[in-house]
Amino acid sequence: MNKFEILINKDNKIDEDFCKRFNLIEIKNFEGKTIKIEKRTYKEFLKLKKEVFKKENLEIHILNSFRDFEEQERICKEYVELYGENLAYKLAAIPGTSEHHTGLAIDITVKKDDGKFAKSNDELYAENKKFLIIHKYLSKYGFILRYPSDKTEITKYNYEPWHIRYIGKKIAKKCFEKNMCLEEIK
Ligand SMILES: [Zn+2]
Repeated sequence: MNKFEILINKDNKIDEDFCKRFNLIEIKNFEGKTIKIEKRTYKEFLKLKKEVFKKENLEIHILNSFRDFEEQERICKEYVELYGENLAYKLAAIPGTSEHHTGLAIDITVKKDDGKFAKSNDELYAENKKFLIIHKYLSKYGFILRYPSDKTEITKYNYEPWHIRYIGKKIAKKCFEKNMCLEEIK
């Protein structure tokens, strides 16, 4: 199987060895912090960013991408404390079930009308109208919106307008044209 097409979710775990197959590079995120991302994913993101700016005058950037197992564990614990177990696992993946382990997933942000990039989940949801415009360009560069609003029953995740996943143009186009999420394609 093409490693870029891997399905990762609560029922399809990956291990740390599999994650090592991805070529991670270091880049700067929206606030100048050094983060890691998969190389091809970044290349395609830059093209997406360029077109969205040119055609829609919307400025997008990267909030974060790669997270190792340890970091994911830390996030889970924090969410359980904040929201309780039930809601926490709808918001955060347990280690081994997150696409962020591969560097193929990007949480993107968009510039708000005040010139700053949206950061918190509340700020990101408030920019939903802009995200809906951006989503139309994803498949052209091999990305899918991983957790769409009308697929929460299937993905078992709340709608995340900011979480995009590189999967390659073939599957991305299929998902987009048939309005299917990754679980329905596989
Ligand atoms: Zn994400």
